[in-house]
Amino acid sequence: MIVERTWFCTCTGKPRELVIVEAGEDETGEPACPRCGASPSSDPKHTVGYRDEERPRRA
Ligand SMILES: [Zn+2]
Repeated sequence: MIVERTWFCTCTGKPRELVIVEAGEDETGEPACPRCGASPSSDPKHTVGYRDEERPRRA
């Protein structure tokens, strides 16, 4: 099984999925809310959360 983590932000009252912002060639992009800009490492209003979904490993 692999676990896929889905980040979301609840600033609109409903969970809204974060989008990955590509930071640079060698840096891994961080997910950020397209509306308020919150991200897992910058979450001043504590609106960012995530859920892990298990998925079968399939080719
Ligand atoms: Zn937000």
